[in-house]
Amino acid sequence: MTLGTEWATDWVRASAAVIAENRVELITLDREIGDGDHGENMDRGFSAVLAKLDGLADDAIPADVLKLVATTLISTVGGASGPLFGTAYLKAAGAVAGRAELDGASVAAILRAARDGIVLRGKAEAGDKTMIDAWNPAVEAADAAHANGASELEILEAAATAAAEGAASTEPLIARKGRASYLGERAIGHRDPGAQSTLLLLRAAADSARNAASE
Ligand code: ADP
Ligand code: MG
Repeated sequence: MTLGTEWATDWVRASAAVIAENRVELITLDREIGDGDHGENMDRGFSAVLAKLDGLADDAIPADVLKLVATTLISTVGGASGPLFGTAYLKAAGAVAGRAELDGASVAAILRAARDGIVLRGKAEAGDKTMIDAWNPAVEAADAAHANGASELEILEAAATAAAEGAASTEPLIARKGRASYLGERAIGHRDPGAQSTLLLLRAAADSARNAASE
């Protein structure tokens, strides 16, 4: 089974829902080691994407959905995370350009391109206590699952599980990028908000694939 435009639009809806549900938690995390706007930023962005979904052409392919997310996040989210997630979705769209159906290789390529886009834009390395610490293990897990012949759903499940571990792994770290880097050792013991939103978005991707598989 492959994943098509319906999965991509379901992913947007599930993302908007999970970001809205966790808005306060993301605000709290960002208040602890940043300026407290991350939940607001992400909720504003995904609400805006949701409002534009119905405007997609009938023959839209997954890359069109990803591109809509990218342009909307770039223009509405602001902060550090707007351009970073915007670039992620833009590069993800580029990785599956022209494809109506996404197989395991495409799904793994989406995640890799998204991660590479964030690194290109933000220059964060593993262990800098950023969203990259959730993205890196997700990409590795997706590639490993794909290499083992996993289904699209299994690849996304593996990525979401690894992103959750990656987000938790930011807690003991000192930040070397973004606002949290001003705090030095005071950032220790707090989870990076962007890593947390990354895990929510990747969990939404897997949940949407599970719904697609059960239909
Ligand atoms: P701002 O920091 O401008 O207030 P947000 O609060 O929306 O923006 O986003 C903060 C998140 O952005 C951080 O938790 C971190 O995950 C991510 N981030 C910040 N700088 C970078 C970077 N250079 N590379 C990757 N991620 C980053
Ligand atoms: Mg912030």
